[in-house]
Amino acid sequence: MAALSRYFIESENIGIYEQILERIDIIDAHAHVGVDRDGHKLSAAELVREMKSNDINQAIIFPQDDPAAGRTFAKPNERILRAYKFSPKKFFPFFRLDPNHDFAAEFAKRVDQGFRGIKLHPRAQNFEIASQKAMKLYEKAEKANLILLIHAGFGLDSIAESFSMVAKTFPKLRILVGHGAFPDLEDAVRLLGSRESVMFEVSTMRIFDLLELLKHLPADRIVFGSDIPYYNQTLSLQALIDSATLAGKQPHHIRKMLGENIQKWLK
Ligand SMILES: [Zn+2]
Repeated sequence: MAALSRYFIESENIGIYEQILERIDIIDAHAHVGVDRDGHKLSAAELVREMKSNDINQAIIFPQDDPAAGRTFAKPNERILRAYKFSPKKFFPFFRLDPNHDFAAEFAKRVDQGFRGIKLHPRAQNFEIASQKAMKLYEKAEKANLILLIHAGFGLDSIAESFSMVAKTFPKLRILVGHGAFPDLEDAVRLLGSRESVMFEVSTMRIFDLLELLKHLPADRIVFGSDIPYYNQTLSLQALIDSATLAGKQPHHIRKMLGENIQKWLK
């Protein structure tokens, strides 16, 4: 608590922060461990240190767009397994896949090892969100009771209809819409906002998009994430708490967004 309030001491919202942050579990629903072909990297130990300095208790972790991913992401997924074993109370492991290639064996192996979800990136792995091969993957994910986190941010445009089709076809599949679907925000809120199986993860969202989301969605549909190491946990926390306060959300709403919502799915 002390560490986090240090960042907010300048803020006029300090009283609100104190109410929000008392006895709270903060979960970062979007953290990458490993290396990216663009040079970004983060080890499990570095992430734990970063979480500690921000009073973040737990994180969902998954690979980056790793140069050693190959067709199956076997190596980077293995790194996530090691990170999870390094700190099993702090981390919820998600694996990454490329729907363009045969993923059956890697999928089965990671489910057996206790991975809790899948992270997909339609742009980096170059697939359509509602394509047939991706649908096959969602079907398996729904059966295995995995959570699906899909990148829905930079590099994409009209995505709401596709997400809506996925959510309708697999009503039990729990979907985290990464980066709040900001490129197609209005339609995403309209088509997905009332679905209990869909939550919006807000990492890297610009403040005006975040405010739009907070204005139109109940707190139960919004989940905190940072996208570390591409973005920063402290700034992500500040952005969500400040804009939620500005949007008139109450401390108990903010606690839901910072941890309680995703905690229910991870139980
Ligand atoms: Zn990311």
